[in-house]
Amino acid sequence: MTQSLQTRLAVTVLTALLCVPATLQVAAESPASFSSGPPPGVENNFGFPLAFDPSKMDTSVDPRQDFARYAAGRWLDVATIPGDSPYISGIVLMTKRVERQVNDLFADASRNSPSAAKGTPLQQVGDLYAAGMDVGRLGELGAAPLMPEWERIAKIDGPKSLASAIARLELIANVPVVLGASVGRDLEDPTRYSVVVADGDLPLPALEHYLSPELAPVREAYLGVITDSLALAGVPSAEAKVRAAKVLEMESRIAGKKLTPVQKRDVRAAVQRMPYAELKAALPHMDLDTLFAELGLPTSGDVLVADIGAIRERDAMLGEYSLEDTKAYLQWEALRLTSAYLTPKFIDVQADLTRALTGQANVPKRQLVVAQSISAGIGHALGQLYVERYFPAQSRIDAEEIVRNVRAQFRKRLEQNEWLSASTRAYAIEKLDKMNIVVGYPEKWIDTSAVDVRRDDYYGNMLRLNEFGSRRALARLGQPVSEDGFADTKHTLPTVVNAAYSPDRNGIEIPAAFLQPPFYDPKADVAVNYCTLGAVIGHEITHGFDSMGRLFDANGALRDWWGPADGDAFVKRSKNLVGQANAFEVLPGVRLNGELSSGENLADVGGVMLGYDALQAYLQANPEENRKIDGFTPQQRCFLAWGQNWADKMHPGLLRTLAASDPHPPGRYRMIAPSRNLQGFYDAFGVRPGDAMWIDPAKRVHIW
Ligand SMILES: [Zn+2]
Repeated sequence: MTQSLQTRLAVTVLTALLCVPATLQVAAESPASFSSGPPPGVENNFGFPLAFDPSKMDTSVDPRQDFARYAAGRWLDVATIPGDSPYISGIVLMTKRVERQVNDLFADASRNSPSAAKGTPLQQVGDLYAAGMDVGRLGELGAAPLMPEWERIAKIDGPKSLASAIARLELIANVPVVLGASVGRDLEDPTRYSVVVADGDLPLPALEHYLSPELAPVREAYLGVITDSLALAGVPSAEAKVRAAKVLEMESRIAGKKLTPVQKRDVRAAVQRMPYAELKAALPHMDLDTLFAELGLPTSGDVLVADIGAIRERDAMLGEYSLEDTKAYLQWEALRLTSAYLTPKFIDVQADLTRALTGQANVPKRQLVVAQSISAGIGHALGQLYVERYFPAQSRIDAEEIVRNVRAQFRKRLEQNEWLSASTRAYAIEKLDKMNIVVGYPEKWIDTSAVDVRRDDYYGNMLRLNEFGSRRALARLGQPVSEDGFADTKHTLPTVVNAAYSPDRNGIEIPAAFLQPPFYDPKADVAVNYCTLGAVIGHEITHGFDSMGRLFDANGALRDWWGPADGDAFVKRSKNLVGQANAFEVLPGVRLNGELSSGENLADVGGVMLGYDALQAYLQANPEENRKIDGFTPQQRCFLAWGQNWADKMHPGLLRTLAASDPHPPGRYRMIAPSRNLQGFYDAFGVRPGDAMWIDPAKRVHIW
């Protein structure tokens, strides 16, 4: 259930609303960005409410000249980036609130788990938390729990034992290592499962970190992490240095062959189907039969192969490097993928790298590191406890109504669409009607009760849970398709602050933790909720109909349902938006990548537009609510609420990292860029030619 290959593969096809920067992927669960307890200012949002509030505005500014400052200027004046996070935003604040809620759950669970029945969510969450928090014991153990894995690798004496060791690493980490195979829904026929082959991910977040001359300081810091980690695990320091240099050399070679994030957006090019025999023949240095046998997979039939170029490079390197180098590399993989389950010293040594990547370097708070492992290992057990305590039934009902109304507005726009061909338009409506939009938590929880979770064996617990997740995914081959809901550790667990569209399921999941201010406020007026939560839902819906959504049909099968003319018209119409983003300076000399961010920017325009449409429809049906609140019309409050939502401050280092690797633009851009393409915004604030916020109608984007 954690990060099966399917999930890994899905990363290329799953679009999330938000980016929680993976500041550091050296540990299995990157100890994200939050650490030693929020300072008081952050705890209380610098004196402001978490929800939309006019007190955050700077009304001395003309909205037609600088809408971002107008919407959130006073908040921007006083908000500071906390020492424990590389940025501050409404999402960070929501995340901190969820962290507090979850921490309370952990505290109660670990108190009560000794008397709870074995295998229940309470026992598993409580004992896993207690085991992870026992830093005294973890410190005494040091790297000892890892040693059986290292010994296994040390004994490799040829291709067969090498393949066995690689399979073992995949099972205990639940991610592909070097080259892995798992089972996921077939991209072209979602009614059945297929074997999916992929190469292992690299620890540094972006390929540029390996390849760009300017980012040498990141590599320098990373070399330090490898060296120090190996030394902590008992490798003599001179040897650790040599090994670290070799690891970086090998990873950099792979980075040069991997598909870029933009290339991965073309799923058809990124994933190909081929007979097992053909893949085997293409990889002469890999004992694929043994790897598959260890994973319980058949060595016949077809397989789906993701990023074949990187896989070939992996194989070539197995031939070129000495067995000793390969073993050293695998030991590093075993260490970095499980170091989060060992003594916290392994996380402490990552501080310089975190600083190089994000501009901040605090060591993450222990609870958060453990919380991430719990989410990855037993996220659904935790989700059950969370929903029981924190998710009111009414929030689900209200959110479902917003979903219905936003969806209805998009249907209306599709019916009136003028640039899609008639047959494509008809199919788009069918796809929208079939889209499964769910709120809060899954119908059926994943049952981890059979896994032995002990209060005194953190490393063993996590390896058993990872292996449970890997084997559960592998066992699906040949079974009827039944997909877990709200199961993506990083994007859709009920405790994750996010919302996501999965094209390969044609479904949207809005986790329970997302339904809180500023994205949803049970006490707010409709204008605010439609242009925050409603706009988010609209954003996700339009992903089903953009350049990636076109590749997946109404059932989630990989099948391009657009004609060439539809594609040309789309590209032509989205050009304005690519141009707008390319012109935006993130930092002096660093511009947004319009191509990389065009999918997200387009979804933002669509999202705000649909939230606004749904609001207008609501006001038409309920004219008594079409009145000013705090001196602002509902239409003004709509754009203001959207703008406030995305106000943020970010360290330049992180901005630079994200501009190169994240399709989501920074908050400052999202605050205002989508609204400037919508006539409703011009009407609400009287923006005229010559105003700084004005975009000539011919240069605005008109898609939906
Ligand atoms: Zn998106």
